[in-house]
Amino acid sequence: MSASSDSARRVAVVTGASSGIGEATARTLAADGYLVVVGARRLDRIAALAEEIGGIGRALDVTDTDSIAAFVAGLDRVDVLVNNAGGAKGLATVAEAVEEDWRWMWETNVLGTLRMTKALLPALIASGDGLIVTVTSIAALEPYDNGAGYTSAKHAQALLHRTLRLELLGQPVRLTEILPGMVETEFSVVRFDGDQERADAVYAGLTPLVADDVAEVISFVASRPPHVNLDEIVIKPRDQANARRNIKTG
Ligand code: NAP
Repeated sequence: MSASSDSARRVAVVTGASSGIGEATARTLAADGYLVVVGARRLDRIAALAEEIGGIGRALDVTDTDSIAAFVAGLDRVDVLVNNAGGAKGLATVAEAVEEDWRWMWETNVLGTLRMTKALLPALIASGDGLIVTVTSIAALEPYDNGAGYTSAKHAQALLHRTLRLELLGQPVRLTEILPGMVETEFSVVRFDGDQERADAVYAGLTPLVADDVAEVISFVASRPPHVNLDEIVIKPRDQANARRNIKTG
């Protein structure tokens, strides 16, 4: 199946769809009737998901321009782009910052979003009713201790998205920034380099969001009529007041 062979159907591209929010969003948009094109580096998961939802699965590394070129090749029709690929590495003070972790976070969250957006913007405009959803974070709203690599990347990703909202005024493209708080996904396992016990401790003693909570909001955003632009949506668990305070920290 190709994204151009079925031109009556709206096409949604979801990056980082091999787990968590991206995977849930791909399932939800497929249930909404979209032909969903899913990408991430773990091709086995992407292929299985694409088969399950009747979509298109392709390998995608948003830090690699050749990978992006291959991913977008032949995608003639794109109505929705969900810039979701991203995450955090480490939890270190600025004094002890690990440059390699910072580079990973900036390359994936910031430049990955920039590259995907640039690659698909012509198709989104040509659709006549395009939508760009960027999954930033409440880390794009405020700093927290030991989080500067991630908060700075999420602030930069958010400013890229919010600037594009200004620059595209008058074009048929809506832009929505989704700013989640704690969502139990593989996020903390990645942040702590595979340490499942440490990741589990993040969510113990409170009720975090699950990926479907965020996916349902993205589905709602996409279902609004073309003149309605939901600009920024902050979604947190009831147990979390902000990036620094939750029911465990008091
Ligand atoms: P997740 O389960 O770890 O999912 C992250 C996804 O990003 C995976 O599918 C991963 O796939 C993909 N990815 C990572 N590097 C990539 C690359 N270079 N190229 C392509 N895909 C890449 O975490 P998640 O919570 O769903 O995260 C999704 C987004 O939500 C991220 O932008 C994250 O910063 C944001 N967010 C998460 C939370 C939270 O608490 N979980 C809160 C706020 C915001 P591969 O490894 O297979 O490539």
